[in-house]
Amino acid sequence: MTAALQAYALEASGGDLRVLRYEADVRLAVGRVLRDLGLPDGADVALLADAAQKLTSTGELGEEVTAALAAAGYLVRRPVLEIGGHGLVLDEATVASAASAVSGARAVVTVGSGTVTDLGKAVAPAGVLLVAVQSAPSVNGFADSLSVLVRGGAKSTTPTRWPDALLIDADALDRSPARLVAAGVGDAVAIGCSGADWLLASALQGTQADAAALVPIRDAVARLAAGAHAPGAMPALVDALTVGGLIIGALGTTAPLSGNEHLLSHILDMSAMAQDQPHDLHGAQVGVATVLSAALWDVALSDGLVRLAPGSAYPDDLEERVSEVWSRVDASGHLGATCAANVERKRALWQGGDGLAPGVLAEVRAQLVTPEAIVGTLRAWGAPTRLRELTPAVDAETARWALSALPFMRDRLTLADLLVVGGAWTDEFLDKVIARAESAGGGL
Ligand SMILES: [Zn+2]
Repeated sequence: MTAALQAYALEASGGDLRVLRYEADVRLAVGRVLRDLGLPDGADVALLADAAQKLTSTGELGEEVTAALAAAGYLVRRPVLEIGGHGLVLDEATVASAASAVSGARAVVTVGSGTVTDLGKAVAPAGVLLVAVQSAPSVNGFADSLSVLVRGGAKSTTPTRWPDALLIDADALDRSPARLVAAGVGDAVAIGCSGADWLLASALQGTQADAAALVPIRDAVARLAAGAHAPGAMPALVDALTVGGLIIGALGTTAPLSGNEHLLSHILDMSAMAQDQPHDLHGAQVGVATVLSAALWDVALSDGLVRLAPGSAYPDDLEERVSEVWSRVDASGHLGATCAANVERKRALWQGGDGLAPGVLAEVRAQLVTPEAIVGTLRAWGAPTRLRELTPAVDAETARWALSALPFMRDRLTLADLLVVGGAWTDEFLDKVIARAESAGGGL
């Protein structure tokens, strides 16, 4: 798969992501990779890693990469990153201090999983080489040109840059914590309904979406159904996540891989952050939310709700509904105002006045995976399938609220918007969705 991925990486990144290797011991080749990218002997290299120990068969990943760089003749500095009670959080202060810590270096090397990789993309200036050494298969955001940063207390996906090289160390991945592996599977299964949300949104906002672009990721994720103990399980997961990242990078938007299930995960994050509580890993939340999102599509399709009368538009009381939803977690009205502005952008992009074009329904159906199949894949990797199985558990009341908030948070249009416009986004409908998810082994 590596040869195919390498060619795909070059194409998807327009030539920016020049090296993509998934091999045992590739961590030890980091000096050679930098040399091949043109970094001269004796150059100054800044290495960014979080505090977690990342074990390999021969030692600790960050230490081994540091030693390999020194052995290749580079001067390595390893700035200390500020890590608080919530782990490494890429807020304005952290990004600014990391940017100043790497300033002047000729190359930046990151060692770690999603957050450290995103930090490297955010702080390595254009013209400075960036090499990402991936330590775990926890998320699909390695092979792309975006970073998830925290701005004004809210996570936002921000265009940054491609790494010049992505080194996926098979030895470290095989030893990465089971929770991180399960989270990667959760992030990957999102394609079981995110593609449907994307195609629907394109139809309702008059934008281009090519369903054929999703074939490689759908094929790669289908291979995960065999589970964690099947032969070739880890390469299949690496494939699914890397192809997913490359599609996001090539299209320049997370939308095809990020529909209602990602909105639900972001809502759980924002609710937890607003109350200064911890929340589970991105992928763990996304996997559980994908079961609910698949149930949402299933109920809406079987009840004949995926339709649109000509002349339909968002309801007049949209802004009040947004404020009311967010007043539950933020009485100050600050989150409500932020989300109302996001939702207003979505309303401005609405082009659904002519109803749903013929053919959209069939195209959307072709993207969908059943809630049962998603639960099957998650269980085959030991990933949670219900909101109460997350760490910490999400209680039933919060879960219902988060589900009801889906159309009232971001400017991303999904099936939930169509249901709001059609007057079908009701407590009774959400009860049916939860019951459908629970019948499949997911839900609250
Ligand atoms: Zn994701």
